[in-house]
Amino acid sequence: MGIVTVLDALTYLPFRYEERGAARKIHQLVPDCVATVAGRVVSADIVRRRGRGTSVFEVVVNDGTGYLRARWFNQPYLAHQVKPGQDIVLSGRVKLGRGPEMDAPDHEISAQEAGASTGLPGILPVYRVAGGISQKQFRRIMQTLVEAYADACPDPLPAGVRNRHGLPLLSESLRQVHCPGSGADLAQWNAGTSPFHRRLVFGELFLFETGLAVLKARVGKEAGISFRSEDRLQRRLRELLPFPLTSAQERVIAAIMRDMEAPYPMHRLLQGDVGCGKTVVALSAMLRAVECGYQAAFMAPTEILAEQQYLTIRRLAAELGITTALVTGASRKDATAVASGDAQVVVGTHALIQEGVTFGRLGLVVIDEQHKFGVVQRSMLRKKAANPDVLVMTATPIPRSLALTLYGDLDYSVIDELPPGRTPVETRLCGPDDRGGILDFIERECSRGRQAYVVYPAVGETESAMLRSATEGYEAFVRLFPNRKVGLLHGRMPQQEREESMESFRSGRTSILVCTTVIEVGVDVPNATAMIIVHAERFGLAQLHQLRGRVGRGTDGAACFLIAYPPLGEEARRRLDAMTRTIDGFRLAEEDLAIRGPGDFLGTRQAGLPDLKIANILRDGRLLDAARTEAFSLVGSDPGLDAAPSLKQAVDVFWKGKIDFLTTG
Ligand code: ADP
Ligand code: MG
Repeated sequence: MGIVTVLDALTYLPFRYEERGAARKIHQLVPDCVATVAGRVVSADIVRRRGRGTSVFEVVVNDGTGYLRARWFNQPYLAHQVKPGQDIVLSGRVKLGRGPEMDAPDHEISAQEAGASTGLPGILPVYRVAGGISQKQFRRIMQTLVEAYADACPDPLPAGVRNRHGLPLLSESLRQVHCPGSGADLAQWNAGTSPFHRRLVFGELFLFETGLAVLKARVGKEAGISFRSEDRLQRRLRELLPFPLTSAQERVIAAIMRDMEAPYPMHRLLQGDVGCGKTVVALSAMLRAVECGYQAAFMAPTEILAEQQYLTIRRLAAELGITTALVTGASRKDATAVASGDAQVVVGTHALIQEGVTFGRLGLVVIDEQHKFGVVQRSMLRKKAANPDVLVMTATPIPRSLALTLYGDLDYSVIDELPPGRTPVETRLCGPDDRGGILDFIERECSRGRQAYVVYPAVGETESAMLRSATEGYEAFVRLFPNRKVGLLHGRMPQQEREESMESFRSGRTSILVCTTVIEVGVDVPNATAMIIVHAERFGLAQLHQLRGRVGRGTDGAACFLIAYPPLGEEARRRLDAMTRTIDGFRLAEEDLAIRGPGDFLGTRQAGLPDLKIANILRDGRLLDAARTEAFSLVGSDPGLDAAPSLKQAVDVFWKGKIDFLTTG
């Protein structure tokens, strides 16, 4: 369960609370109430065995007023604990079968013990448990830990901060969230908004933000390259482009040029929805570096994307008289040109930051699609050169406050405008029966000279047999469209084939590209107007949005068909509905946060940032702002946290040692 230390356990909070039912006699029980009953076990048997590991253990209890039947599923070991003749206390929701019944109630065998912990009404914590441990065992372990260790936890929050925000002590808060006192308000505890919950949320956000503040303070102080030039290359680039830049692009380029001229390393996050034109911005920055005599590196999250960006960049670079190179896991033949500095612009994957790749004179690193890269990788890249400027680009549409939290060690710009003339992608939710109409649509688009993507969730037979794999789909489309060229693209193809497949689609020779999510980020073929997503219910909202962003890049209308296979879960239905309602990435991001909470969507783990276990960024936005302000002001006056040793230690633990300079001073 990811719990290794006592601290991990103490910060593993109940995910809900329930009222311990009042003690009742069996003849008073009414269906659907939660009650506690004390009686004697009359019979206890495993009544059914269905195959290996499937069993029902049934107990009948009598308390002198009636009989209550209780059942537990797949817990055959209970037969060793609960025996006829024992006194037992059961607590659970009552339902009506042949008489009153309870499914999987809490049970306590010794009457004495039962009296001690169940006699009083109160609030019980409910934890997410796993690995065969029961709720009751887990609860008992947690109570033991809280008793033994809550008071031993030093409170990392400086007293001044605690007082300003009226926050209770850490020890008291831990006690209250795990073992709510009798005055606890069930609704508040369940919403996670009790003063004690808020204290823990604030504490977690404070450790998070303090770490970010320290990182940022450090980066700002380092000496970097001051790139100054007359931007002849940039002016020529603009002449080559068939369109004028949007004012958002101009604004962001201006900010980047200011950063690059400054004598410390640029460290900027550029965020913009899919299709807003981040590549041109990146290119402008790279040209500035090249004109100043430095190498620029462009790092993409996958080989396919690196290859594709390489082709795009190479075409433009050639016209500008600039040399380029490609470095991926599969392709290292350009490594010498990179090492000698002959290659002015280097495109690649994370292979760029691995051992064995050296740069002659690296000045700027552009990292595309940040959500697949992390702070850790960023710092590795910085080791490739004295202190290169770093521009991180992401299409993950996150609200500004969240961006500051996640990427709070970066400066932040947004391209909040799409190039003019784009028509919104029409999105339709379909079932497997709508196949005919979809195929007609694809044929119509192809006959107009347009192209289509068909995306499948998995490749080969490795995933569940239910999934239509891309290779099978490819064969089907080849049969269905004998007069069209159908291509296949997935991550397990050899690099050479992938490049050919991509190039054939880009140049328009291939009409229909059947693929996996390898095209999720960054693939840019403006002539594609149809996006078919098979098994759309299996994709996350952010992923669906990215995929849809592959079409509607030209001025022609485009359509996206989401083919969903029943039965649809509640969350899948909400995701798909959201997709048909809006094409606005920000609104979808908010919807996604609402559907499944921030964890995954924000990809903190991938970004190398600590997990937020307690805070919910949607619910806790105010606390986040407060924690951020306090953290940055504290670090501003005490960058080494020398006056707050317990905070320093807590930040170090929370960030798992990633802020190593904390300990080295
Ligand atoms: P993303 O931000 O998703 O990386 P790209 O940089 O791939 O977007 O740009 C998407 C498409 O828009 C490309 O075909 C690009 O040539 C085009 N484009 C970029 N900027 C403009 C602009 N100012 N006007 C018109 N088209 C543009
Ligand atoms: Mg892109």
